[in-house]
Amino acid sequence: MARPKILVVGAGFAGVGAVRRLERNLGRDEADIALVTPFSYQLYLPLLPQVASGILTPQSIAVSLRRSRRYRTRIIPGGAVGVDTRSKVCVVRTITDEMVNEPYDYIVLAPGSITRTFDIPGLVENARGMKTLAEAAYVRDHVIAQLDLADASHDPVERESRLQFVVVGGGYAGTETAACLQRLTSAALCRYPRLDPKLIKWHLIDIAPKLMPELGEKLGDSAQRILRDRGIEISLGVSIAKAGPEEVTFTDGRVVPCRTLIWTAGVVASPLIGTLGAETVRGRLAVTPEMTLPGADGVFALGDAAAVPDLTKGEEGAVCPPTAQHAMRQGVRAADNVIASIRHRPLTPYKHKDLGLVVDLGGRDAVSKPMGIELRGMPAQAVARGYHWSALRTNVAKTRVLTNWLLNAVAGDDFVRTGFQSRKPATLRDFEYTDAYLSPDELRDQIADAMPQHH
Ligand SMILES: Cc1cc2nc3c(=O)[nH]c(=O)nc-3n(C[C@H](O)[C@H](O)[C@H](O)COP(=O)(O)OP(=O)(O)OC[C@H]3O[C@@H](n4cnc5c(N)ncnc54)[C@H](O)[C@@H]3O)c2cc1C
Repeated sequence: MARPKILVVGAGFAGVGAVRRLERNLGRDEADIALVTPFSYQLYLPLLPQVASGILTPQSIAVSLRRSRRYRTRIIPGGAVGVDTRSKVCVVRTITDEMVNEPYDYIVLAPGSITRTFDIPGLVENARGMKTLAEAAYVRDHVIAQLDLADASHDPVERESRLQFVVVGGGYAGTETAACLQRLTSAALCRYPRLDPKLIKWHLIDIAPKLMPELGEKLGDSAQRILRDRGIEISLGVSIAKAGPEEVTFTDGRVVPCRTLIWTAGVVASPLIGTLGAETVRGRLAVTPEMTLPGADGVFALGDAAAVPDLTKGEEGAVCPPTAQHAMRQGVRAADNVIASIRHRPLTPYKHKDLGLVVDLGGRDAVSKPMGIELRGMPAQAVARGYHWSALRTNVAKTRVLTNWLLNAVAGDDFVRTGFQSRKPATLRDFEYTDAYLSPDELRDQIADAMPQHH
């Protein structure tokens, strides 16, 4: 009998967690494993704000998928753009834009999430997210370019707009991004003698009444105090009404001259999920606690893309939050369940109690809540960095990150602008490939046109 084909989609926390477990626990003769991924690395997203601020080099948080000859998974360079669960075919758009039909017996869907946007005039054209390595590198270059251009300009209006920065989203991604980049622009003052320190201004805004509500009242207040003391203007209950290339209008009527709008107001499941035509919970695929899709044979989904029931909450309808902590553990459990399916054994539900939250605000500033214990300052920073460091998967990544941290502590920030893409401002769509997916009709045609290719 032919070996069953397992197709894993997405090489993030969930996908890589699943692939590694499958490779370890399945015999070579038991199944073929393939991984669809547009990039050849697993991105350690929680440290992305530190790439945007230049504390870490981009490579240090991009963990290679090709570390050793032991790994036997066939890596397909491309993105899944449609899944037909009836014919059990996944359509892949390769990195050279060719369409390939990949048949599967088991599919593990872990394509993660994309930046959630709203119908706000000018938003998608003028905002950048903080979700991909390219975005982080782009934002870093862009911010340094603003300092360079403001420094050179004689026009006070231009200087003002170049030196104001707006971050939307008071979750950990937005808060850490604002905190790390604000440190960078403050540190810049000793290198840019023509810049007036009073003109540099960071705004952090959120429509919610609190920053990072999951931190709780006291710790959340501490985080706000730290940021306000550093000069970040925090506006709560406020969002964006309109965005333009040189100014942003807040919903409270304020018009802020600004050429840097960073949008981190939440995430939404990958558009791939929509192509299945299955039930969703706020955009995430509705799955069982075993991470299977009801009514579809051999489909597993997890991570940010799926609404996996949170059995530790004891509430009807509770789902796991979209965090790396859950995604990587779900990867392991989903792999075990795929193996159990192949071996005709019972599946096990996913269950994990949240370990807490760490928030690195740059330098010695941090707040952390490991296992419910509230920490601030250096102890919080030690826990935050220690946690991320130990969670990096390979020794190479660990060494790169540690060396970068030490270098930054000793030598300080650098203001090198690489200039890639500087003439063509890329948009959210370019960075996150949101227009790559197939419509239901296109998916049907693609499945009918091309006979499944067997390998
Ligand atoms: C700035 C930032 C900071 C964060 N900080 C924390 C933190 O401190 N702690 C925490 O627990 N969580 C944090 N998170 C959240 C965490 O990163 C996510 O919850 C986690 O990455 C989800 O894992 P995943 O495997 O579902 O998705 P991802 O890790 O995003 O992986 C998805 C993968 O799928 C690939 N992909 C996308 N579409 C396709 C497709 N169509 N076909 C094939 N592949 C595809 C992507 O390229 C990516 O490699 C942070 C997120 C951000 C953005």
